[in-house]
Amino acid sequence: MDPLYVQVHARDNVAILVNPEGLPSGARFPDGLTLTERIPQSHKVALRDFNQGDAVIRYGQIIGHATRPIRAGSWVREDLLDLPAAPSLDGLPLATAVPPPLPKLEGYSFDGFRNSGGAVGTKNILGITTTVQCVAPTVDYAVRRIRAEMLPRFPGVDDVVAITHTYGCGVAIDAPGAAVPINTLRHIGSHPNLGDAPLVVSLGCEKLQPARLFPDGGFPILESDPYLIRLQNETLHGFGDIIAAIMRAAEKRLEQLTRRHRTACPASDLVVGLQCGGSDAFSGVTCNPAVGYAADLLVRAGATVMFSEVTEVRDAIHLLTPRAINEDVARSLIREMKWYDDYLARGGADRSANPTPGNKRGGLSNVVEKALGSVAKAGSSALMAVASQGERVTAKGLVFAATPASDFVCGTQQLASMNMHVFTTGEGTPYGLAMVPVIKVSSRTALAERWPDLIDLDAGRIATGNASIEDVGWELFRCILDVASGRRKTWADHWGLHNALAPFNPGPVT
Ligand code: CA
Repeated sequence: MDPLYVQVHARDNVAILVNPEGLPSGARFPDGLTLTERIPQSHKVALRDFNQGDAVIRYGQIIGHATRPIRAGSWVREDLLDLPAAPSLDGLPLATAVPPPLPKLEGYSFDGFRNSGGAVGTKNILGITTTVQCVAPTVDYAVRRIRAEMLPRFPGVDDVVAITHTYGCGVAIDAPGAAVPINTLRHIGSHPNLGDAPLVVSLGCEKLQPARLFPDGGFPILESDPYLIRLQNETLHGFGDIIAAIMRAAEKRLEQLTRRHRTACPASDLVVGLQCGGSDAFSGVTCNPAVGYAADLLVRAGATVMFSEVTEVRDAIHLLTPRAINEDVARSLIREMKWYDDYLARGGADRSANPTPGNKRGGLSNVVEKALGSVAKAGSSALMAVASQGERVTAKGLVFAATPASDFVCGTQQLASMNMHVFTTGEGTPYGLAMVPVIKVSSRTALAERWPDLIDLDAGRIATGNASIEDVGWELFRCILDVASGRRKTWADHWGLHNALAPFNPGPVT
């Protein structure tokens, strides 16, 4: 392969090296630029000479200033850049550049499970919700038996899943932050992939009582409810009785679930959560723009597309508030940034807490560069709504759902709303969720080749010119429809790689 770099924006004065093995000192690009030192793949090369203090520009935006002179053809490493201040949250442009509606995309559908409330599932799962961590091993035990002894009799049901977590007791349950994990768990317990009603296992003495988890509305939980098992119930004698009670309720639920069938549903019934993890400098060039293209297709088809990860949006906030559909939505976005700024400040965290060592190995110098690449996932449509931490998304179109950036915490919180998940990665992660399919898209072909049985789609072809952003975007859109229909299985589901749920609890533990 001849020496090759990718320059994203015409204003950029640094570019990303594409060659898989990196390039040695003296390597010469077609435009005459010659490397002054060895540079690894996905790291930045200076396209011109820099004086100390000069702005370093990528994605057309300043990602830092040179801490000392840099010669053209040199490696622009993390320590050669200072970290610019985060954009101020005061005086941001509000809904000043609202993109016009994209042309409608008609005629795309998938085969989903429609619930009586209207929401559509992409899997047919028996989910056993828990109110507290104390019951988790008991439910895990019951699930092993249900899977072995009952599930084969209900071939229409995809799986049985224990919805276990670390919340529920020993927490300040009336503190303001408690609403976040409680709302998240409520929405997960009433997820469209679980059918129309939850099955709940409670200990009895915990702070998060079943009636508090499902207070009213869709899923009233009564003490006499056959789908509520309290382990401390006086009629249950020993572990054998407890497991038998859970299995009886499970069997009744399985009889209901097995009557669900897939029917053609318009693509507008999709709620797709976007996330990245283990990003590298290619993420913002290949997989994230391709996901952004697919996000636009989904929006055009009337679906909901959520992007999240406050800390990875924060440094690109000035590019997002102008895109809000109105000033209220822009202000909601700023409110979520402010909430998280305050949360991080309380914990004494600064912005250098992100990126990770792996991000840096992948060529990302700082959180500004990471954020500019991350927001490419959001495509080009108007931002229609903002959901707070733990809130379920109900709007159509592009929505920002506030979550932490941590993969499994973000995934858990997005699970409150999404029926499909798209995950981009540069360094690689085997991440998956039991309750919704997770399509993993790689930023580099080298990763897709090293992990052919973990990565579902390779966007690295965009860097080498073997595919366009549009090609991969369309491929992903069709892949989403196939996976949502159960016609295609993700690698994470093939191997059963399902991360534990990790609800975000910003409140105190007691
Ligand atoms: Ca993440």
